[in-house]
Amino acid sequence: MDDRTQAPIPAANPALVRCLDGAVRHDWTREEVGALFDLPFPDLVFHAQRIHRMHFDPREVQISTLLSIKTGGCPEDCGYCPQSAHHHAGVKAEKLMEVATVLGEARAAKAAGASRFCMGAAWRSPKDRDLDQVCAMVEGVSALGLETCATLGMLDRAQAQRLKDAGLDFYNHNLDTSPEFYGEIITTRTYQDRLDTIDHVRAAGIAVCCGGIVGMGETRADRIAMIATLASLPAHPESVPVNLLVKVEGTPLAQKSELAAFDPIEFVRVIAVARIAMPASVVRLSAGREDMSEETQALCFIAGANSIFYGPKLLTTANPERGRDIELLDRLGLVPMR
Ligand code: SF4
Repeated sequence: MDDRTQAPIPAANPALVRCLDGAVRHDWTREEVGALFDLPFPDLVFHAQRIHRMHFDPREVQISTLLSIKTGGCPEDCGYCPQSAHHHAGVKAEKLMEVATVLGEARAAKAAGASRFCMGAAWRSPKDRDLDQVCAMVEGVSALGLETCATLGMLDRAQAQRLKDAGLDFYNHNLDTSPEFYGEIITTRTYQDRLDTIDHVRAAGIAVCCGGIVGMGETRADRIAMIATLASLPAHPESVPVNLLVKVEGTPLAQKSELAAFDPIEFVRVIAVARIAMPASVVRLSAGREDMSEETQALCFIAGANSIFYGPKLLTTANPERGRDIELLDRLGLVPMR
């Protein structure tokens, strides 16, 4: 009997051999990423899991908690976001939280098992006085022994350096989608603005958390282009969040009736391709889990997802209750990443 357990790379596509060796590379082409998407589903998931095991303990899942430290009233017009002041999703604009309140939330997140605490603010970019307060939060959360992450909008080089000096470990700034589809979703800042912020974060020595959203009406070609762009950055993002669009009433994307429920098999393909193209990055199953079956989530873990947001709220949208997540991880034999 043939041994098919090693590398059943379809003979018809020898170009895939170099894509499936599990090495970290930065010269991914859209054709190569597209060829991964075209693999038969069992082959794709097999290779994603095989490559995942080359870089990670497949039982471990990194657990992050996300807190909105400044909600609503954002001047940007991201078509999916209920916090944009351009939309009418009923999210009230609030002031930046007090440092003590944030630290209380961080303590609770740690007690509930989180290893990373992410702080999100609905800004185009932070003002200097706001940054003073955020730096105090970063210092405080760091002192609790948690990894720190922030998402505050666009940063210039000096702002990134200030956050680094305060002890920030990660900065989240997503590309969202392909360069071609981007203008359909956001008009108030450019794709290049996003790449520039990622550059400044990287230059300051902060680890990068950068991914995107699927299910916004993009084509597979856009999903391919997004992953090829991420995997061709000079350094891969250390964290790659993959979000499934959450349709929030009052946002432009929720009003698009043509946006049917996204195919869960295609979602798992996105996770698997991200795992193969950025083999040493943590791939995070992010927004949209509330609408996902446990079976789909399990397939995502098999396909190489190894991080989740934990806690009942993701900024302003719902996320599975902690008890349900613990039970699911338990049933799958998965444990929090040390
Ligand atoms: S995604 Fe961020 S930048 Fe865009 S509108 Fe929402 S809070 Fe503002």
